[in-house]
Amino acid sequence: MTDGFGRKIEYLRLSVTDLCNLRCQYCMGPEGVEKRDHRDILSHEEIEEIVRAAVKLGVRKVRVTGGEPLVRPGIVDICRRIGAIGGVEELCVTTNGLRLPELAGALHKAGVCRLNISLDTLRPERYCEITRVGSLEKALAGLEAARAAGFPAPKLNCVLMGGVNDDEIPDFVAMTEREPVSVRFIELMPIGPCRDWDKSRFIPADAVLRAVPELTPVGGDGVARLYRLPGAAGTVGLIRPVSDHFCPACNRIRITADGKLKPCLHSATELPLRGLHGEALEAAIGAGILAKPQRHHLEAGSDSMRNMNAIGG
Ligand code: SAM
Ligand code: SF4
Repeated sequence: MTDGFGRKIEYLRLSVTDLCNLRCQYCMGPEGVEKRDHRDILSHEEIEEIVRAAVKLGVRKVRVTGGEPLVRPGIVDICRRIGAIGGVEELCVTTNGLRLPELAGALHKAGVCRLNISLDTLRPERYCEITRVGSLEKALAGLEAARAAGFPAPKLNCVLMGGVNDDEIPDFVAMTEREPVSVRFIELMPIGPCRDWDKSRFIPADAVLRAVPELTPVGGDGVARLYRLPGAAGTVGLIRPVSDHFCPACNRIRITADGKLKPCLHSATELPLRGLHGEALEAAIGAGILAKPQRHHLEAGSDSMRNMNAIGG
């Protein structure tokens, strides 16, 4: 389906939980997230019904996200149900990777075709600082498990933070020399706990090109502009939601774990989907697509009422 500005909406980001086994400083507070009653979040059946309705309206790609999707009990069944829906051409999961050693094989069998793994640092102490509770060793074990399960080389998402991890740009880029990974640097967005962070933390993704001038452009992949080192196996992606918003090319809608359709990451608008079925559900999703604003105005601040863990990134 096409939205009010001629954009074809084919991509659904579906959050299955607000909970997480990490506490990344830019995403949530140190206290974490209050556990909700399971009746307050979409059931497996509701998720399947919503995705089926979205597919009828033209969605072709589904990304399961969170919170940390792999802490949701039954995540493999959820993925299997989505993967079995005719019309879902691509089923991906975005994860911090910590639970992949237990789950990678089952997710692969369930029809997940690709993983995006978030990794903001390659230094153990820094990983612990950024995530407050995490262990780099476990995250790297997750990467290894993904490979062993037969997933294609992952996209590694690294949120760039001035004075925190920008000194690691060359180390991340060097990973692409040897392996066919796609390292994607994402600009930090002023949403949730980092809304009031010092301006110096928010650096444009062009800092990557300044740090490694050998990178040459090789095209694009969705919202990422891609670059490559001469002769490298993998690519480097720059995702610039702040310095160069990609709203004109936006092809996505989001659904939160509690069943609200968010037409835009940074808008306060949310449309409730729970309790709707059949044509009423399709009509509500269609209305959400038509409610997509032309662009966000992050330069004036995000209007979203939620932290990123309650949206899904
Ligand atoms: N827990 C999973 C993970 O971390 O990959 C999935 C959910 S997480 C909210 C999705 C993505 O949003 C992650 O790559 C994370 O780094 C990114 N993210 C969270 N807060 C952000 C912010 N303020 N600016 C930019 N990216 C952010
Ligand atoms: Fe958890 Fe992902 Fe948020 Fe980090 S970015 S706290 S891993 S939901």
